[in-house]
Amino acid sequence: MPPILLRALLADATDYRENSRMVTLLTAERGCISACAHNSRKAGAALLAATQPLVCGEYELHESRGRYTLRNCEITETFFPLRGSAEKYRIALAITAITRAAAPEGLHCENIFHLLLVTLSHLAYSQQHHEDILIYFLAHFYHLAGHSPILTQCAACQTDLRGTARLYFSPEQGGAVCGNCARLATPTTPTTLEALRRVLLLPESDIPKVVLKPELRAQILRLLIAYGQKNGIGPERGYLLLVNS
Ligand SMILES: [Zn+2]
Repeated sequence: MPPILLRALLADATDYRENSRMVTLLTAERGCISACAHNSRKAGAALLAATQPLVCGEYELHESRGRYTLRNCEITETFFPLRGSAEKYRIALAITAITRAAAPEGLHCENIFHLLLVTLSHLAYSQQHHEDILIYFLAHFYHLAGHSPILTQCAACQTDLRGTARLYFSPEQGGAVCGNCARLATPTTPTTLEALRRVLLLPESDIPKVVLKPELRAQILRLLIAYGQKNGIGPERGYLLLVNS
């Protein structure tokens, strides 16, 4: 069998037997793939660096009876500065875990793979506030995953909410809701929803334009995290990492 070459991000690695690791690779072409990296934990092993979380590269796999073995890797990006900030590193691990859930094995998922890499790159190399970058990621990830919150009309009765002052947000009901429909909903403001709408309209080249005031940033982030968590868009542990960041 010829080797399989895949551009991938190493999403997770766990120790396996004495010197090996089981790794989960997130790929654009085939979703998540688990592979065994034999002897990758030995000092000086060729695959030692390539089996660290958040390393991106051209991974060479061998398949035999449905199992994959990692043979080689040409590392293209390590997002190294993330390792110097506990907060950024935790966000990076959280959004990688959330993305994994939307990329089961076999699924072509170029869009979300690309969004994740662009986000990690901004987190690692830009001076932009890390939570502004996170807000861009979550809003666009929900959109690509087909779960965008409803923002311009009431998620329950479809009344147009633009121009309404008394607004609520309900993850369970699917987004913004009017005062009549609000059940277990959090009060929110027109400014918060409008800012979130604008973030959703920005192309990735405009990620640096997401510059929010602290209070607004905190409000939007709370809504987005609650929305993803309550709707199960990704694993609970991903959101727990975000809540604790
Ligand atoms: Zn309503």
